[in-house]
Amino acid sequence: MTPLQPILTEKIATSGPLSVSAYMQACLLDETHGYYAHTPVFGAEGDFITAPEISQLFGEMLGAFHAHLHQLFGAPENAIHFEAGPGRGTLARDMSRTYQAIAPALYNAPCYLLEASAALRAKQKEALAPQEPHFITDIKDLPQSPLFGVANEFFDALGVDQAIFHKGAWHHRLIDSHEGRFHFTIGPPLQEAAGFILPNSPIEGDIIESSPLGEAIMAQLSHHIAHYGGGILIIDYGKSDNQTDTLQAVRDHKPCDMLSYQGEADITHWVDFARLSQIAQDNKARLIGPISQGRFLQDLGIGARAEALRDPQKPEQDRTLLAAIDRLVSPAQMGQAFKVALLVPDGEGVPPGFTSLT
Ligand code: SAH
Repeated sequence: MTPLQPILTEKIATSGPLSVSAYMQACLLDETHGYYAHTPVFGAEGDFITAPEISQLFGEMLGAFHAHLHQLFGAPENAIHFEAGPGRGTLARDMSRTYQAIAPALYNAPCYLLEASAALRAKQKEALAPQEPHFITDIKDLPQSPLFGVANEFFDALGVDQAIFHKGAWHHRLIDSHEGRFHFTIGPPLQEAAGFILPNSPIEGDIIESSPLGEAIMAQLSHHIAHYGGGILIIDYGKSDNQTDTLQAVRDHKPCDMLSYQGEADITHWVDFARLSQIAQDNKARLIGPISQGRFLQDLGIGARAEALRDPQKPEQDRTLLAAIDRLVSPAQMGQAFKVALLVPDGEGVPPGFTSLT
């Protein structure tokens, strides 16, 4: 039994079944027992590995991308280095090191991190030392300045709600408990669409998703970028609709049941990029892409960068480097399932990394 299990059981006993997003929120972000409240979570010793933890080349590529974007946008002097959900701070550190080498204006820019977990804030502070990041939990607390930033595997960690088609109508899909075990249940019918995009011609048992928090944060980021400029790379496993159950839980590098191990497994969903793009447009911003992560990194020259780092005297190191690149780029690994999109102010043209879209 996990410490969260009786707490959630009690909550259901007093106020009824939980929405999927409320369950995820408790499992991931409960201040004492939530998954992100304790470390390590990422990396070989954690439960899963993310792109920046695979190789520093990932952060170097994104740093070079933003150094170029900053120039394209007229090198604004009040730029901000921004990241949403920075995990252990590895990506922020690798990007900052790249800025130090090739983009002093971004290296000297204030760094703002959107992070909900106190434990991870401490890690991020350590990773960026001696630089002092500013921590926020609300986009509204950002200064009114252009953001050059990234959200890697951030949106997938924000809760989703689900609806299920049953007996000719859409119903909330909720989480109930019975004798200490949790199970999915069909809740009340949706009032109107209740924030879901309803597909045409559903059949019994179809499941759809929406991410109220993800959508709210996307709207705020789009509004900020439309008004104050800059660009934000959004990188995640994704698709272009909300149709199907995409929830997944991982523990110790293996898939597990999301209704067990509360607070001890990572729970994520696949990001609906079409929805994010619509929200950008609604806020007078533009989402370029998504494009596959493999294509993006290759077009930015990750292959050439890896070649330059190879050392014939160190074959073991070369093999590790090539294996890391393969993991980031190959379609059978992260290259295809992971997508990259760029949030920018409304306008035309596409920067390097996205030109194959045109
Ligand atoms: N970007 C990192 C880690 C991704 S995990 C990497 O690539 O390694 C998700 C991150 O988002 C964690 O840092 C988690 O604490 C943070 N997070 C999750 N929900 C959040 C929320 N509602 N507000 C702010 N940060 C959140």
